[in-house]
Formats: sequence, structure tokens, C-alpha cells
Amino acid sequence: MNRELFVIFGDPVSHSKSPVMHNMAFKRVGYPGCYGRYRLEDGSKLRDMFFKLGLRGCNITVPHKEYAYKACDKLDSFAKRVGAVNTIIYKENQLQGYNTDAPGFLKVLKTMLPNGGKVLFIGAGGTAQSTSVILRESGYEVEILNRSEGRLKQFIENGFECYTYDSFNGDGYDIVVNMTSAGLKDDSLPAPKEILNRALSKAIGVIDVVYGSNTPFLEFAKTKGLKTKDGGDMLLYQGVLAFNYFTNEKYDLKDIEYAMRYGLSL
Ligand code: NDP
Repeated sequence: MNRELFVIFGDPVSHSKSPVMHNMAFKRVGYPGCYGRYRLEDGSKLRDMFFKLGLRGCNITVPHKEYAYKACDKLDSFAKRVGAVNTIIYKENQLQGYNTDAPGFLKVLKTMLPNGGKVLFIGAGGTAQSTSVILRESGYEVEILNRSEGRLKQFIENGFECYTYDSFNGDGYDIVVNMTSAGLKDDSLPAPKEILNRALSKAIGVIDVVYGSNTPFLEFAKTKGLKTKDGGDMLLYQGVLAFNYFTNEKYDLKDIEYAMRYGLSL
């Protein structure tokens, strides 16, 4: 039987849990797919590499999501609006691009704050960009705090309230999210403690998009008795949605989630 090949492109990519998640799901539903990882240093080569490897689909992680956007022939309307693609599928002789990070994150947020509310993002990168848009469209109020001004420009143009450390005077947040990579490979908090104290004063919980470790941000929130969630569920849900595209929306999402959750636990 010919297997369809999928990979995750990124740099670095050796830490990625996507292969074990997708391969577990292929096995569970009996789909002839095989999923690997590919370290791609030059994101501008993504399209060439996709064809060279004979892929059926791929996921894209840091730092190539904007290259992935440019590599596609066709984009779904959400990916087009936010300018970031993390899932590509070869279909009807075209590379078709989707963003599953943002709906994945929305699903996680809904488990903590189901009926809307006020959310602070710390970080203004690509992930914050796509997730801020989907949250606003789903009725949440979102504000952005970043250590430097540069990346805030696009958020300001999109009508979001934005702060740097110096200008931060926001409050009343229900949930505060670490959308930076602080805590991924170091033990730093995403913002100074005085700022976090203010941001968390009325919060019920925090989410850290970094997955696989108890980050300093989650530890800090726990000392205040807040609910915490790491990036594992976001990873899981973006994977379920990507798999659904890879396999032509043929399988039950609960089945995929079950297999991927098992894969993640290994
Ligand atoms: P980007 O590189 O696009 O943006 C990073 C942002 O974090 C910038 O705003 C940057 O600020 C800020 N930042 C980086 N390091 C620090 C630090 N030490 N302290 C304070 N701010 C910092 O990254 P992405 O948006 O693509 O990804 C962000 C995180 O989300 C990554 O850790 C990634 O692994 C994670 N992620 C998790 C997913 C999941 O499924 N769980 C899915 C997608 C992403 P500045 O502008 O000043 O440089």
C-alpha cells in the first residue's frame, strides 16, 4: 500500500510532538499516512521542499509560518486575514493553506472562560496575531502587552489596545496568556513581576502557550491560587483540526483527539 507522506517543517523541530500525535491518529482510523519532521533552515525553500519530498500535506512551526503563507496557491479565508499558515494540504493540484493554531487556542480558552471576557496577551508574535483576531471575532475583549514596540504596530492598526512595559496601565483581565517563548528554554517570566501582579489582580487563570514544562509563568500564577493551563491542549486541538484537513474531513474529531492525546502522553 502506498502511504501518503506528511511532515512538520520548522527550525528547530526535533522537539516536536506532532509526528507521534499524527501517527497515532493514522493508526487509529486506519488511514495510510506517515508523518515525520523536517528541519528547514531557509523558509523560502518550503514550497520546493514540499514537492521534492512528495508530500501530501505538512504543518509548519516557528519560524516559518509567514513563509508558509506565501508558499500557498490558495488560502482559506481566516488564514488569508491573519497572514499565517500552519497547515498545508496538496489538493486539486494546488497547495492549500489553513491556520489551525487560532481555533485550537480558542477551544482551550473556552474551557476556562466559556462566555467571553477580558484577556491579556503577553507577546505580539505570529501566534498572538492570529489568535487575537479569532478571539475578538468570538466576542472576547483582547489587549496586548509586549516588551518592545515594533510588533505592536500591526495590532494598533487592527484596533487592539496595546502596551509596552512602560505604558502598561490595563486591568480587570479574566485570563492572562503567555504568548512569548519565555520559559521555553530558560527560566524567565514573560514580563517583570510588578507588571504581572497588576495584570493578574482580578484574573481567574492563566494560559501558557509553551508546552511540555511547568514554566515560571505557570508557577508564578499557581502561587496566587489561579487556574493554569500549559500549551499541551492548544497543540492537541490544532493537531486535530490539521489532521481533519489532511484526511478530507472524513473521521470523527473525538476519535482523532483520543488518539492524539494518547500520542502526546507517550
Ligand atoms: P514569535 O517569534 O513570532 O514572537 C515571539 C514574541 O514573544 C514577540 O512578541 C517577542 O517580543 C516575545 N518574546 C520572546 N522572548 C521573550 C522574553 N524572553 N520575554 C518577553 N517577551 C519575549 O513567536 P510565535 O508567536 O510564533 O510563538 C510564540 C510561542 O508560542 C512560542 O513559544 C511557540 O512555541 C508557541 N506556540 C505554541 C503552540 C502550541 O500548540 N502550544 C502553537 C504555536 C506557537 P519582541 O517583539 O520584543 O521580540
